[in-house]
Amino acid sequence: MGDEDQKILVVGGGISGITAAVEAAETGANVVIVERNPYLGGRVAQLNQYFPKLCPPTCGLEINFRRIKNNPKISFFTQAEVLSLSGKPGDYSVAIQVNPRYVNDNCTACGKCAEVCETTVPNQINYGMDSVKAAYLPHQMAYPFKYVIDSKIIGTDEAVKCAQACPYNAIDLEMKPETLNIQVGAIVWATGWDPYEAEKIDYLGFGRLPNVLTSVMFERLAAINGPTGGKMVRPSDGKEVKSVAFVQCAGSRDENHLAYCSGVCCLASLKQSTYIRERVPDSKAFIYYIDIRAMGKYEDFYTKVQQDKNLSLIKSKIARITEDKESGGLLVEGEDISAGSKVSQVVDLVVLAVGMRPGTSKIRPDLEMNYDDFGFVTGSGDSGIIPAGCVKAPMEVAASLQDATAAALKAIQVAVRR
Ligand SMILES: Cc1cc2nc3c(=O)[nH]c(=O)nc-3n(C[C@H](O)[C@H](O)[C@H](O)COP(=O)(O)OP(=O)(O)OC[C@H]3O[C@@H](n4cnc5c(N)ncnc54)[C@H](O)[C@@H]3O)c2cc1C
Repeated sequence: MGDEDQKILVVGGGISGITAAVEAAETGANVVIVERNPYLGGRVAQLNQYFPKLCPPTCGLEINFRRIKNNPKISFFTQAEVLSLSGKPGDYSVAIQVNPRYVNDNCTACGKCAEVCETTVPNQINYGMDSVKAAYLPHQMAYPFKYVIDSKIIGTDEAVKCAQACPYNAIDLEMKPETLNIQVGAIVWATGWDPYEAEKIDYLGFGRLPNVLTSVMFERLAAINGPTGGKMVRPSDGKEVKSVAFVQCAGSRDENHLAYCSGVCCLASLKQSTYIRERVPDSKAFIYYIDIRAMGKYEDFYTKVQQDKNLSLIKSKIARITEDKESGGLLVEGEDISAGSKVSQVVDLVVLAVGMRPGTSKIRPDLEMNYDDFGFVTGSGDSGIIPAGCVKAPMEVAASLQDATAAALKAIQVAVRR
C-alpha cells in the first residue's frame, strides 16, 4: 500500500486497537486511531502487573508507543469519538469529534499548572479511589505525556491562573471541540470492556463497605503510582492489610447479573494474591471460587501460585459479606463445598473478581455489526467494520494481540479490495 491508499480507522486505543494500528501501519497502511481517554493504552495501563510473567504493563505498552511515535503513517486523536459513520467497505465517511484538552504540544509535563490549581476531580485512572488536581497528568507513563485541564474549571479564574503559571505557553483555554471528517477504507472497532457494576450485587457489600474493592481497583491499590503509592492499606482506616479474600465470579455465571464466565478473573485473582503475599510477608490470602479456570499455558501459572502455603483456595460460593464490628474487618460467609462445612472468615479486605462487559453493552452503535444478548460483537459479515479484542469476548492480553493482528489483516484486505 502506498501513501495514496485509503486509510484504516481504529476506534479504541487500548492494547487491541494499538496492536491493530501498528500491525496495519507497518505493512504500509495509513492509520488513524480515535481514543476516548486522554491517553492510549486502555485498561492495560491501569494494571499493576500482567499475568503470567508478572511484568509491569509498561513492558508491552512502551514498545507499542515507540512503534507509534516512529511511524509517520499513524496518527491518533485522544479525547475523541466517532460522531457519525456511513458508506460501504472501501469507502466510509467518518466524522470524529475531538474534545479540547486545553493543553497543546508545548507541554513538557513540568506540573507548574497543577501547583497553582486548587480544585480537584476524581482520579479516573484510579477508579475514583483518590482525586487529582483539575490540571493533571493522566498517569506517570501516560502517552501522550501531556497534561489535561479538566472542563470543570474552564471559564474560571483558576483556569486562567493555571495558564499564567505555564512557562511554555502550553495552555490554550480557547480550545473548542472540533469535528474532523475523514474518508477511510476499513474500520477496526476495538472499544474494549468495562468492569461489571459491583454495587448491583447487593449481598457482597460493594459501595456500602469501604474495604470491599473490585478487582480492577485492587490493581490500582497495588500500583506504585496508585492511590496509596502501592501500600497495602485498608481504605477505611489506613491499617496495613494482613488478609485478603478474593471472591470469584462476583456477579459472573449468574443469571441475575452476567450469565457468562469472563475467563480471565481466576488468573487475575491468582496474580493479585501474589501482590499481597509479596508486599506483606506475614499476610494470608483466600480465594473463594466455583472452579478455577486457568486453561492451556496458564495452568503452570496456577500451579506455581498455588504452592504458597499462605494462600488458601476454597471451593465456595460466597453468600454474604458484612462488617465484623470487633476487628473492623469483614466477615465473609458461604459454604465450603469440598469440606461440606460453613465458611466464616474475617479478613481485612475483600476483592470482588467482577466480570468484563463489552463497551457496547449499554449503547450498541448502529453499525454493520451483530451483537449477542450481552452486547459483545459477534461478527460483521461482509462489512468493512472489523471488531477486535474484548469488544468481541472477554480475553486476556495475549489473545487480544492475536485477535487485533487478525483484524488488522482483514482491514487491509477490505481497504485494498475496494
Ligand atoms: C481485574 C483484571 C485484571 C487483568 N489482568 C490481566 C493480566 O494480568 N494479563 C492479561 O493478559 N490480561 C489481563 N486482563 C485482561 C486485559 O485487561 C484485557 O485483555 C485488555 O484490556 C483488552 O484490551 P482491549 O484493547 O481489547 O480493551 P480495553 O483495554 O478496554 O481498551 C479499549 C479502549 O477503547 C476506548 N474506547 C471505548 N469506547 C470508545 C469509543 N466509543 N470511542 C473511542 N474510544 C473508545 C477505551 O477508552 C479504551 O482505551 C485483566 C482483566 C481484569 C478484569
